[in-house]
Amino acid sequence: TVEEVGWRFDNSYARLPEPFYVRISPVPVRAPRVAILNHALAESLGLNFQILSEQDAAHLFSGNVLPQTAEPIAQAYAGHQFGSFTMLGDGRAILMGEHVTPAGDRLDVQFKGSGHTPFSRRGDGRAALGPMLREYIISEAMHSLGIPSTRSLAVVTTGETVLRELPLPGAVLTRIAASHIRVGTFEYAARLKDGVHVKTLADYAIRRHYPDLLETVNPYLALLHRVIDRQASLVAQWLLVGFIHGVMNTDNMAISGETIDYGPCAFMDEYDPYTVFSSIDDHGRYGYHNQSRAAQWNLARFAETLLPLLDSAQDKALTLAEEAVHAFPDIFQQYWLNGMRKKLGLMNEEASDVELIEALLTCMHQHHADYTNTFRSLAAERLPDDALFQDSAFIAWHAQWQARLARQPESRAVAFNVMQASNPALLPRNHRVEAALTAASDHGDYDEMQCLLAAVSDPYIDAPEYNEYRTPPTASERVRQTFC
Ligand code: AMP
Ligand code: MG
Ligand code: MG
Repeated sequence: TVEEVGWRFDNSYARLPEPFYVRISPVPVRAPRVAILNHALAESLGLNFQILSEQDAAHLFSGNVLPQTAEPIAQAYAGHQFGSFTMLGDGRAILMGEHVTPAGDRLDVQFKGSGHTPFSRRGDGRAALGPMLREYIISEAMHSLGIPSTRSLAVVTTGETVLRELPLPGAVLTRIAASHIRVGTFEYAARLKDGVHVKTLADYAIRRHYPDLLETVNPYLALLHRVIDRQASLVAQWLLVGFIHGVMNTDNMAISGETIDYGPCAFMDEYDPYTVFSSIDDHGRYGYHNQSRAAQWNLARFAETLLPLLDSAQDKALTLAEEAVHAFPDIFQQYWLNGMRKKLGLMNEEASDVELIEALLTCMHQHHADYTNTFRSLAAERLPDDALFQDSAFIAWHAQWQARLARQPESRAVAFNVMQASNPALLPRNHRVEAALTAASDHGDYDEMQCLLAAVSDPYIDAPEYNEYRTPPTASERVRQTFC
């Protein structure tokens, strides 16, 4: 039964005061069926779903049958959405509880698409199958790339139809996260009347995610610096693999530093810093090269919520917050630059490295070069006879790069090993994601999706059997917009 799979729930968030959540159960669904179960993830969490019948698994991951130790809640939060402040909350998600793994990690187990809550506003509380499978694929790929991310444990279909522009099959995703504390959770706490809530939340977040900060002189200031550092690192890692989150609202930024809330996200094929995929991002606010700026803007909102905790003198608190937030661009740039150095096998630092990197990117942009394959070709020392590699500007760049490699003490073998480990060969390219979602959502065929998941699970290996997943889309296959 669902009790025997190994759950060890200890629900600390549900012990916070009431304004942080409401107690509410998932709304049962009519005819749940398992679409996909992540047995490998389950095993790493000390859980075993192999013992469940299909039927029991479907009832568990639809929320129809909850383990006795679950304490389902919908979390309250707020957020700046495309710059505008809104009171939000889990409108279609339910936190089942925190599972403590055998290794001692405390992880949220959350249903997404589990029905109406007091925070649903005008929404139906439900999710369509396609977007839940998209989150499953992309979050698992991010994890395999080594980028901090929430994970996906299961998707079940509900046997119910959700009405979007078209009627679509409904689904529930079960997601695993270090926590679901967002910048928006702090914004919510800061707006509650009683002045104690931000402190309660900050103390909770520090204990849960960054307990080493308890030893510091000013743990709240240290929290601000740590979250800034984690986000700078995260967004740099996104850029290094060509990832575009798509909806970097403050409610979609996790204090833990994990990538969270996959909506109209995508990896870019052709390198173009102005790339935007999201159908709801009219002005490119969250386009590829705007992501670090968007992160800094969100972190400024985070810093504002902490002001009363940073120092009892208001002007001092403001100065501390400003210093912290203003440091973001340099921290980000350092993470990005070090990541780019690895992508090019540069093992030490030279002042002209930025120029060298920018020169390559400019060339790639001009030739609409495939972002992933260009770096992988450089790492493999196999340059196909594409226009990019024939261009005299590229040839000149290549000579400079070779000279740069020759100047460093490390051998070429060492440099190229680092390059292989820093330039993925396999990503869930948009057109393959769309094909997998269409097959699953329209035809109940999960073969494409299983194959894609297998391909991207070991992204730094040139596996010949997955060569087709490395091919950029043809003009007609190309996906220009993604929807959430
Ligand atoms: P998202 O864009 O997915 O980050 O969601 C933003 C907010 O809208 C969150 O508070 C969600 O819970 C809520 N929301 C999104 N879709 C729905 C839906 N179908 N029903 C109710 N609430 C929703
Ligand atoms: Mg969200
Ligand atoms: Mg088939």
